[in-house]
Amino acid sequence: MTKWMMMAGLVISMAGRPAGAIDLVFDYSLDTYEFSDGTVGFFNKFPEAKADLELAGRVFERFQDNLAAIEPSSTADPIDVDPFTGPYDVWAALISHPGTGQSNYRIAGLTIAEDTVVVYAGGRNLGGSTLGVGGGGGYSTFVGTEFETTLKTRGQGTIDEVTGVDAVEIAPWGGSISFDTVDGSGAERLWNFGAAPTSADVDKSDFLSVAIHELAHLMGFSFSTPSFANQVSGGQFTGAAAEYYNDGPVALAGDLSHFAEGTLSEVRGVTQETAMDPTLRSLNGISDRKLFTDLDYAVMRDLGWMVPLIGDANVDGSVDIADLVRLSQNFGVDEGVDWIEGDFNLDGIVDIADLVLLSQNYGQEDPLSPSSASVNAASTPEPGTLGMLGAITMLIAKRRRRMC
Ligand SMILES: [Zn+2]
Repeated sequence: MTKWMMMAGLVISMAGRPAGAIDLVFDYSLDTYEFSDGTVGFFNKFPEAKADLELAGRVFERFQDNLAAIEPSSTADPIDVDPFTGPYDVWAALISHPGTGQSNYRIAGLTIAEDTVVVYAGGRNLGGSTLGVGGGGGYSTFVGTEFETTLKTRGQGTIDEVTGVDAVEIAPWGGSISFDTVDGSGAERLWNFGAAPTSADVDKSDFLSVAIHELAHLMGFSFSTPSFANQVSGGQFTGAAAEYYNDGPVALAGDLSHFAEGTLSEVRGVTQETAMDPTLRSLNGISDRKLFTDLDYAVMRDLGWMVPLIGDANVDGSVDIADLVRLSQNFGVDEGVDWIEGDFNLDGIVDIADLVLLSQNYGQEDPLSPSSASVNAASTPEPGTLGMLGAITMLIAKRRRRMC
């Protein structure tokens, strides 16, 4: 009897374990591309790109999930380990090298902390009009070990739940992203950093927009992610959250890893082309700035990420007095604060900016939370609005550059 009660208690305490904020760690050690002026590394050539990449990372650092640490017993590459004697808890990360494009580039013995995703960032000539590429990494290890299970699931569920044909979860260790250095004409690619592009930034592509897009691929927005692929049917994405925000299944591009060209959604109530359609438009040479829309976030939810409402510090599906209390208890704190302490813009301090974000969303209920009373389609764009925007897009010729 006592034993059963203890087990029940254990289950409850695990369910009540506070979610952890995901931390993206950027690694520039493979940023090895040499520019024609001799500068080595995209992020050395454009130092301001690092701040933009960190900012893009915050889109995903809002996610509240627990990812188990990856702690190999040594830094040995499994291909160098005696298969009869081990050790078997060793691995090599496999990525597309951001500086050279080499596929299955091996990085042996990475230790990755709890709740952390590692992003190898760099630049190279991606060819043509492609602005960026990004994707999750693979791994090499001994199969069938407990260590492999951790690599696959990071404690997010069973192997089937994370990698099976009915996967409902996601648990990446990380991957790589790369940004273009040479445009389609052979000249150096021009990038816009910092504030959104203006008429002073003609022919520059908006780095923040591309960074958000490529990081989303790395975080699972891709047909190669099991929990993505099993929600694709007839060229459409059919996840519940995505269908809610799109008022039905979402048409995908031919590669099944992007929304169809021109798919619209909203950023805080303002209509915008989704971050995850295949291109970044420019009008009269001025690049769009695309942030992560409701529909982009919805897909990430469908993949298994826990995406709280802005202002929902305790991640219970509603923005209410409990969240306000949390924020006020931490007001002014600038050390060790994260989402669950009320730092909603993830800038490292709980301050008036966070209070403003909370108050803008005060009273909101997550429409997809099980505890929510009703589901309404208030935030779905009306067909009339969509039609008008479609017409405008056709009338004004826009140049599009590809994001992969
Ligand atoms: Zn893409």
